[in-house]
Amino acid sequence: MKIASVIVDVPAKQTDRAFDYLIPTEWLETIQPGMRVIVPFGPRKIQGFVTEIKADSEFKKLREIIEPMDLEPVLNRELLDLGNWLTINTLCFKIYAYQAMLPAALKAKYEKKVKLSTGVKLNQLPAQLQEVFKNQEAIQWDDALENGLVPILQREAAKGLLEVLYIVKEKLKKKKLKYVIPLLSSGDLETASNGLPQKAEKQKEVLKYFVEHSDPVELRQLLSHLNISSSTVKALVEKGFIAEQDMEVYRDPYEKRTFTRTEPLLLTEDQQRAMVPILGSIENKRHEVFLLYGVTGSGKTEIYLQTIQDVIEKGKEAIVLVPEIALTPQMVNRFKGRFGNLVAVLHSGLSAGEKYDEWRKIQRKEVKVVVGARSAIFAPFENLGIIIIDEEHETSYKQEEMPRYHARDVAIERARNNNCPVVLGSATPALESFARAQKGVYTLLSLPNRMNKRALPAVEIVDMREELRAGNRSMFSRKLFDLLKERIERKEQSVLFLNKRGHSSFVMCRDCGYVMNCPNCDISLTYHKVKDQMKCHYCGFESWVPNQCPECASDYIRYFGTGTQKVEEELGKILPEAKVIRMDVDTTGQKGAHERLLKEFHEGKADILLGTQMIAKGLDFPNITLVGVLSADTMLHLPDFRSSEKTFQLLTQVSGRAGRHELPGEVIIQTYTPEHYSIELAGTQDFDRFYHREMMMRKAHHYPPFYYLSLITISHEELMTVVSATEKIAAFVRSRLSNHAVVLGPAASPIPRINNRYRYHCLIKYKREPELNKTLKAILDQYQSDPKSGLLVSIDVNPFILM
Ligand code: ADP
Ligand code: ZN
Ligand code: ZN
Repeated sequence: MKIASVIVDVPAKQTDRAFDYLIPTEWLETIQPGMRVIVPFGPRKIQGFVTEIKADSEFKKLREIIEPMDLEPVLNRELLDLGNWLTINTLCFKIYAYQAMLPAALKAKYEKKVKLSTGVKLNQLPAQLQEVFKNQEAIQWDDALENGLVPILQREAAKGLLEVLYIVKEKLKKKKLKYVIPLLSSGDLETASNGLPQKAEKQKEVLKYFVEHSDPVELRQLLSHLNISSSTVKALVEKGFIAEQDMEVYRDPYEKRTFTRTEPLLLTEDQQRAMVPILGSIENKRHEVFLLYGVTGSGKTEIYLQTIQDVIEKGKEAIVLVPEIALTPQMVNRFKGRFGNLVAVLHSGLSAGEKYDEWRKIQRKEVKVVVGARSAIFAPFENLGIIIIDEEHETSYKQEEMPRYHARDVAIERARNNNCPVVLGSATPALESFARAQKGVYTLLSLPNRMNKRALPAVEIVDMREELRAGNRSMFSRKLFDLLKERIERKEQSVLFLNKRGHSSFVMCRDCGYVMNCPNCDISLTYHKVKDQMKCHYCGFESWVPNQCPECASDYIRYFGTGTQKVEEELGKILPEAKVIRMDVDTTGQKGAHERLLKEFHEGKADILLGTQMIAKGLDFPNITLVGVLSADTMLHLPDFRSSEKTFQLLTQVSGRAGRHELPGEVIIQTYTPEHYSIELAGTQDFDRFYHREMMMRKAHHYPPFYYLSLITISHEELMTVVSATEKIAAFVRSRLSNHAVVLGPAASPIPRINNRYRYHCLIKYKREPELNKTLKAILDQYQSDPKSGLLVSIDVNPFILM
């Protein structure tokens, strides 16, 4: 067994297969599948993944592996196979599939060292290594290679005695905060307290705090918690009972927080009924997909927690996916509160170093649960007992770059390999998922009621056309303005939600709400400023922009779009007394800004929280009693067949932000098209009726879930070249598929030019086309193997964004 199959890091058609290399004798025992190695490739040295070790090769003259890059495999057998599956199903290069599964720290060229694992004593190592580590904590990887130490290091690493450290230079300066620590034991503190004069009440309180808590506490927190001034602390510092200390804020932002331990709640009958089948699937090691359908606050998370509990008790592991923006401390606390440090957290707010730390915890099996955004689906667990996807309808589960995977599909594939259940949770499931549940492909579990039967907030839909008629040209309806004013007087909080999505704009009549749609595709036409033209991005239909509304002849017809900044300005004019926190991409760019702004709002430092999508989720503050949606239409008229679905989901979700606690909530939805079913039904939060309406539309226009989609996008510097290539590709696809498939295009992409490259696409709608995967692969092969043509072809199977 001295030949290794290696996938090399050269993303190109010709190299998208395993290459065989000889394993040098010195590495024979150590190189394993799933490790990365350095291999010679042509005149270069490059990285690669070992996928297999075998005895023979069909090739004669093999070159030797230069050296290993890891002490232990970074991908397990299951993930290696999953990489294959990803390659086939998303039509990406194998190397991209493997790289997607690893934390960024492992992808770039970081300085690498080997050190003793935490808690390991020097004398546990063999004599040769004791000598090496005697005078240094860690040794450089390159030195280890040079001195021939890697095989012996690998042996010890396999026993868990050593580990690799990546020195990731953090861009952000470490933040330091002032902390207070006790200097005496709690018994001595008590004695000290008794020795203080009677009237030193405040000082006694501080000491009492430290009798009960031995951990360092942030000075600011201590002051506000005990309602004391810093002079009280100073006095105790001078007496030598406690000390102030600057402390670095820990790499893992969640680690240092204290979590209140929570116990499993006694489940309601509904919850019980929903949980039993999931437990059955875990018990019987039977793969099954459950759709847990329940409004926000119906107790889904408690079910996640208790099924995970069961999984942990069986010695298995759990992955919980949460949309990035919902990965708030509130959400994380619920899992950490139940499972403490058995939980790893992965989200984009972490630096590369922090992510690597969390990933290592998973790899070393120190944790049993990972809570994370999309890519956490690749957590290197080896004994999965359940995969949970919360808010399963969220589009952020689809990755928009290679590999273009959907986390739901990957979850189902991994769960199948592990014989375990997948639980998809949502109050507004994706149409595809609900349809599968209706057909019995997924098992539907419903939680029809909110906990404590708390009422859903009252939703009122305000017709902005009426406002205009009444002479109100502001972006706030009279009703919303009155309610906002009332909230400020009552010292309650409001959330204002503005939906703005880049790039595309549509033309709408402000008098009657008319929007121009494509006659062929039933999606709105996109306005192109440069040419002053309307266009359909599915089929290429074009039309002039009307000067007058074709419906009502009003000439108040124009394109639409308002920014958060503009809203903030107007709020300043009409409600100068209101304190506003604005949350959008501009104000939340910095690390931790998102959390900080939410915290400020939670602490009551503002009356109004104004923001985009990112505030739609996870907000659960008792004092929010009003939610205003400024323009429900902006999302409705995106050139996307899912725009009604997204509008419904979003409005339902935003509405759920109000009145989650004792105070009842009110929701105002402003719109120019109150009669549109997705707005009307969001008003009554009636998913079932929405589902039936929307399914009719999807069926009529041949969209998912009745048809599958694949999108081919072609780009080139010359317009003519793109158009003719796209025509050729469309013709080729048509010739290979059955006549049940619909091939639309060539049409210009919604963003028709990026970086001076023209972009065209071709959209395929189909039900069952066994030849499709091969056809698409053939197209990719053809263009990828001819880089001189300058044509770039990308294929997205089940696309979510048709840009
Ligand atoms: P969802 O995930 O559907 O939004 P949660 O699980 O967060 O719902 O439940 C909503 C609220 O009800 C939470 O505050 C939760 O602690 C509480 N809760 C959930 N299940 C129970 C139960 N069985 N008994 C009492 N309270 C519960
Ligand atoms: Zn009109
Ligand atoms: Zn069209």
